[in-house]
Amino acid sequence: MKIVLDAGHGFQTPGKRSPCGLREYEFNSAVARCMKESLSNFRSVSVYETHSDLYDAALKQRTDFANSIHADVFISIHANAAGNGKEWVEAEGIETYVYLSRPKEALRLAESVQKNLISATKLKNRGVKTADFHVLRETKMTAILVECGFMTSRKDIIELRSDHFKSACSSAIIKALRQTYQF
Ligand SMILES: [Zn+2]
Repeated sequence: MKIVLDAGHGFQTPGKRSPCGLREYEFNSAVARCMKESLSNFRSVSVYETHSDLYDAALKQRTDFANSIHADVFISIHANAAGNGKEWVEAEGIETYVYLSRPKEALRLAESVQKNLISATKLKNRGVKTADFHVLRETKMTAILVECGFMTSRKDIIELRSDHFKSACSSAIIKALRQTYQF
């Protein structure tokens, strides 16, 4: 099966950072890198990436790519932010998104990813939600978007900066993929 990993945003994206200066892409791409490495152990799985360390790939470019290779699953990895991004706010925890139409398979994968992420990280469970995000709307395959904690939370940011947490997120998402697709 073909799995597309999408580390949201790019290094240069303005605004997508914590009050203490963490850029969202640093987190997103580290989790994607970790997942790619772990998934290379499974012969039945091919992993592709939509993002690049060199430039901020446009959303359309990301979904066009996934559609063109007929991917089976699209996983967009993000860290959340609330407020104006310049100060710490109360919002915290992990949430996983599917498209508004709540596609059955995406919902099943999202529920599993959310459950595994919460049990691995112990962060606040914000549940599975729906949204009209480009990467969920324009992908022709099962697609989910994961928000692995808030960069604007004093509590979550400690985790988002830690390598242990990034690797825990990677393992949890892979565990959910394996449970859902039996590989
Ligand atoms: Zn994001």
